[in-house]
Amino acid sequence: MRVIRLSHSGINYFARLVDDATAQLWTAAPWLGGTETDRLVPVRSDTLLAPVAPSKILCVGRNYRAHAQELGNDVPTEPLLFLKPPSSLLGPGASIALPPQSARVEHEGEVGIVIGSELRNATADQARKAIFGFTCVNDVTARDLQKKDVQFTRAKGFDTFCPVGPCVETDLTPDSLRVITRVNGAVRQDGNTRDMVFPIDELLAFMSHIMTLAPGDLIVTGTPAGVGPLVHGDRVDVEVEGVGVLSNAVTHASAKAT
Ligand code: ZN
Repeated sequence: MRVIRLSHSGINYFARLVDDATAQLWTAAPWLGGTETDRLVPVRSDTLLAPVAPSKILCVGRNYRAHAQELGNDVPTEPLLFLKPPSSLLGPGASIALPPQSARVEHEGEVGIVIGSELRNATADQARKAIFGFTCVNDVTARDLQKKDVQFTRAKGFDTFCPVGPCVETDLTPDSLRVITRVNGAVRQDGNTRDMVFPIDELLAFMSHIMTLAPGDLIVTGTPAGVGPLVHGDRVDVEVEGVGVLSNAVTHASAKAT
């Protein structure tokens, strides 16, 4: 099943993709007990929203060996966690806004996980069963501010710095998924989840011993090697095998969003 979120007649709905052009509306998010209605609506690129509504966005840094090395960091012995605010969410097709405070904004294509049921002090097996589905995430990062601040909050937290979508795919196993990032069509990152330092089930279990993971929470699982800059006028695509392509334009914060 592919779950999307869209605006229809001024109201935001979660919906199931019936085909590329049609969706069936839900009463609420499926991970919050929503059920399918009998209403079919057309899917248009300009009404698609990020297909998530998380209470938190919990991310892991340096979860691919080659990426840790390219930034001159050691591979961590425990997962390195940080949060992005839900206000940073951006839908497919919307524009990433380059903030004036940064001279170096970079893409980080990643696999996103949507939590289906509450996880607290979980085992890896329990964590696997609590996954609702998978999506594409671009963990946009102001690299200069990340280095300057040490803390990640500002560098990772600007509005529009968390594009997600285009859908949440429920019928996938995450152990060997390709994740590819392209800028203006040229491949910048080409990784595979089998190369993660901390595999997804272990990562979720580790996180759940720190904070309760709630249904709908978005977990962002780290980026492979090849991160690089984004500039005004770029188009950045994050593709997760089996999910689809998340595509966003890049503009100056002062420029009108397209
Ligand atoms: Zn990242």
